[in-house]
Amino acid sequence: MTDAWTNLEQRLRELNDYGSAIKLLEWDQAAMMPPEGGPARARAIATLEQATHTLFTDPELGDLIHEAGDSPNSDPASLRILNREYDKATRVPGELVRAIAEARGGAYQAWTQARPSSDFSILEPHLEKLLALKKEEADALGWKDERYDALLDQYEPGMTTKEVASMFEELMSGLKPLVEKVLSKVGDRPAFLHETFERDKQMEFCKWLVKELNFNFEEGRVDISPHPFTIQIGAGDVRQTTRPDADDLLMSVYAAVHETGHALYEQGIPVDILDLPIGRHASLGMHESQSRLWENQVGRSRAFTGFLLPQLKEMFPEQLGMITPEDFYRSVNHVERTLIRVTADELTYNLHVGLRFELETRLFRDELAVADLPGAWSDAMDDQLGLRPNGDGDGVLQDMHWSIGAFGYFPTYTLGTIYSAAFFDAAVKELGNLDEELGRGKTERLLEWLRANVHVHGYRYEAKDLAQKVVGGPITAEPLLGYLRDKYTGLYSDSV
Ligand code: ZN
Repeated sequence: MTDAWTNLEQRLRELNDYGSAIKLLEWDQAAMMPPEGGPARARAIATLEQATHTLFTDPELGDLIHEAGDSPNSDPASLRILNREYDKATRVPGELVRAIAEARGGAYQAWTQARPSSDFSILEPHLEKLLALKKEEADALGWKDERYDALLDQYEPGMTTKEVASMFEELMSGLKPLVEKVLSKVGDRPAFLHETFERDKQMEFCKWLVKELNFNFEEGRVDISPHPFTIQIGAGDVRQTTRPDADDLLMSVYAAVHETGHALYEQGIPVDILDLPIGRHASLGMHESQSRLWENQVGRSRAFTGFLLPQLKEMFPEQLGMITPEDFYRSVNHVERTLIRVTADELTYNLHVGLRFELETRLFRDELAVADLPGAWSDAMDDQLGLRPNGDGDGVLQDMHWSIGAFGYFPTYTLGTIYSAAFFDAAVKELGNLDEELGRGKTERLLEWLRANVHVHGYRYEAKDLAQKVVGGPITAEPLLGYLRDKYTGLYSDSV
């Protein structure tokens, strides 16, 4: 009789093959597909997802997971993950899964109409329905302290609302006064940023930069998509995208650095565990820790911007010829009050996330009704950043997350940012100050450190345990606050 673990591994490979096909269809949908291909593609993806769900929830697979515990060759960490995921997948009744999929489809469609017309009432009934179903889902999945835990757990396994709330409270209360002080000192957006930068040249530059950062092009690609993202299709195939905009040079460059952080993580997970449940990222927060570390701690540092500028000048001599390193460093760290999260600067970004976390948790505690969301959004925005949206379009409708039912996703952006600062501190403690090598564009030692401390583990540990292991103690917001205070004190000489 074949060993249960060997049988299970075979099943897992099949599931991963379905996963690869789905991811390739998704990448193509975002980067290559002609616009009219949408509906047929959505159906193809839904069919494959349904098939994967059926394969995964097969009672025989459940038996195999159970039996494999006695196999001498089994991997305990993978079995722990499988047990947990199998249990979750079989707790939510099929009718509820279908009802949520339908409600998501309807809400997303409504959002695509509501956003351009800045009219929340188009989305409202759909969101109402979706929220009710997501509450049902949370109850089916089970939770201990509060409902939102069950949703958060889908993106950040093992993390609780209470833990996030306490880290966020520490961060937001330190950030608000810092933002106020910095905003009282910054001037206007630097003029050279208003120049036009040819898109083709931007792409050429981004590809060069990505390679400099040690992204392996033999095992990956860089393409263009409206929303930059990174996806691992299978072993030896990690794809990232960026978005060149002729009016905004820094956006494509920093999107490329950010996505390279994600891509290096994917390329750093050892090939021999890729077909096992441990062969992937530990959580979305852990993924974001890698992108933010490269984007901010490396990419926006004085040292690395000193390396970037001469290279950019070669590509754009007319637009950038007169720019000094100090101008450039200030520009990539320019702070502004804005209504939109995705274009927010490093300092105010987390306030945008804090606002969403607060509203989401209130929705799931039944303290806030869907109908009252636009008003609550506006009040929270005023409280956090002293701004009120002009309408729903640049307020509550700006992100698609809620319309696709992705409640619990937002906090992972800031968790990742908190991890990134703590990790960078730990790296510097071990490797020594990195400024000299970053100033020459040399990032190999840092990458090796991340490979050895983060990437190599895949999902062997839950993200918060891995994070503690990396820094050798509990994770708090202090390293991030300290990093931001230092950076902005340096930028605006008298202390902030
Ligand atoms: Zn990211």
